[in-house]
Amino acid sequence: MRKALVAGNWKMNGRAKVNGELVAQVLAGLDAQVDSDSVDVMVFPPSLYISQVKGLAGKEIGVGAQNLCEFADGAFTGELSAGMLSDAGCNAVLVGHSERRSMFGDSDARVAAKVKAALAADLTPVLCLGESLEQRDSGEALNVVAEQLRLATEDLTVEQIARLVFAYEPVWAIGTGRTATPEQAQEVHAYLRGQLQQVDAEVAAKARILYGGSCNPANAAELFAQADIDGGLIGGASLKANDFVAICQAA
Ligand code: 13P
Repeated sequence: MRKALVAGNWKMNGRAKVNGELVAQVLAGLDAQVDSDSVDVMVFPPSLYISQVKGLAGKEIGVGAQNLCEFADGAFTGELSAGMLSDAGCNAVLVGHSERRSMFGDSDARVAAKVKAALAADLTPVLCLGESLEQRDSGEALNVVAEQLRLATEDLTVEQIARLVFAYEPVWAIGTGRTATPEQAQEVHAYLRGQLQQVDAEVAAKARILYGGSCNPANAAELFAQADIDGGLIGGASLKANDFVAICQAA
């Protein structure tokens, strides 16, 4: 009942020329190998390239932003608001990615404000959640992600929570080549869905929860086969057209 979603987070990579080539190759690969009825595909380029990618991506590939400012307009030098991202052609935005949480001061409170700002501009927030290695090793993984989820959504209505996409990205698996096992990921995804069930059963049943962290063509199918994993948020492998298309095919 949940349609899979595979989303490529390009992070701070790309230039106009390579973006054009990458999108063209992904489009060709999707066309030849992937059933668009079974998976939605999105990419999240650096914001400067959103308009470029939107112009090339057609209807087959949705385009989102990697970050937004929690404020609508004003004296916030260097920031981009949800309304601006929407103007540029985005329909979604990553919120709370661990790189932003750890390096750019995105606290739980700011993450919550950004989720609200995205919703106010009709962008789909892709809310990223995940524990550090230290937290996993001390048995805290489920508590950590549940608390991140609670703090990001506590002021939202059920209707608003229904508009979110979730991404479980264990920090220790991001960019490390060390993927969570399907069992480890499934445990957290099922737990998160259980938390959503306490909000609303239908919202929980429909919520798309993506896995992210060293996902690649070799491990994607097994991860996506888990009952509560509805696709992936792909970093490094989304920069290689063949790998990204293969991951979309696995969904
Ligand atoms: P990698 O796939 O490079 O581990 O990155 C995952 C990620 O952070 C996606 O948002």
